[in-house]
Amino acid sequence: MGQGIGCPEKSRKSEPALNQSMKKAEDGEESREEAVERGDKQLRALHGVADLNNGAIGLYNMGLSCCLNSLLQVFLMNTHFTVILRRIRVPTVRIEQKKSVPYQMLLLLEQMQCSKRRAVYPQELVSCLTWHNLKLFVQYDAAQLFLSLWNLIKSQITDEQLADRLTMLYTIWVQEYLVCQKCSFETRRDSNMLSLPLPMFNSCSQRLKTLEDSLRCFFQPELLTDNNMCLCEQCERKTPCLQGMRLTCLPHTLTLHLKRFYYKKSSWTQKISYSLPFPQSLDFNQILTQEQCHPDAKEKVSWDDVKCTYGNSHTHWSETAYLLVYMRKNPQ
Ligand SMILES: [Zn+2]
Repeated sequence: MGQGIGCPEKSRKSEPALNQSMKKAEDGEESREEAVERGDKQLRALHGVADLNNGAIGLYNMGLSCCLNSLLQVFLMNTHFTVILRRIRVPTVRIEQKKSVPYQMLLLLEQMQCSKRRAVYPQELVSCLTWHNLKLFVQYDAAQLFLSLWNLIKSQITDEQLADRLTMLYTIWVQEYLVCQKCSFETRRDSNMLSLPLPMFNSCSQRLKTLEDSLRCFFQPELLTDNNMCLCEQCERKTPCLQGMRLTCLPHTLTLHLKRFYYKKSSWTQKISYSLPFPQSLDFNQILTQEQCHPDAKEKVSWDDVKCTYGNSHTHWSETAYLLVYMRKNPQ
């Protein structure tokens, strides 16, 4: 998924593809339908690895809502998510319906599936999100917005079993560990994450060449010495220790977050644009012996189109992949 963040000047120059399509249509350079179709193709190219089985049409940009639209597409094209969405309890009071993010998402999905137009405006859902303090007319970090949106959906699903299913669908389970290098005593803590924040550089500040390298780097343990030593319960003093994380369970829908943005004091957010190829299928056998995670094989754009988002120094701000969504191929 491409996304933008933080820099209003740049964001104005780099308007989303669909928005640009509509502007051209207004200028009479191509028909409205052609423009929307082209925008749809571009959007689908950005989400080639998602499960596009819902037969839904696209979303118009409502002004810097391209990041939100991309996330909504990722959620609503995922049939495992929409199965959950279709089973929510519909609020009976109108004002509660307006405030319910899952209900508004369900209405939007129905619009996207039933409308005779080529795309729809997500204005009711946007109003609902604004009511929950998610502002529309700002640029968001896609990973941050994904977390905020997911938390809102989860907290508003009143059926516990459904909320659990949502958790199971997206949650990555990990085990953090700390091993004393003097006595080998190991401390463990189970934890969970919604996306894996993957580095673009290794610990020696060298560029990582592939997504697999980035995953290996993320799970590479780090030796803590000198001022970073930790208290060992067994040695009863601070000792050098090895700190790391193990992947204990992969969800059906795995979200990976490439850390392409970094922040400098007194300056704009900087983006790392260099190429980081990601595979069409991911095999976690090297990390977790009995678990595998693969993207869905039924993608409807060619993989070559998706590879255009690997990025390079000349790549347009909004065309570089940033949030990757992989689907488990074998649910068992
Ligand atoms: Zn120890």
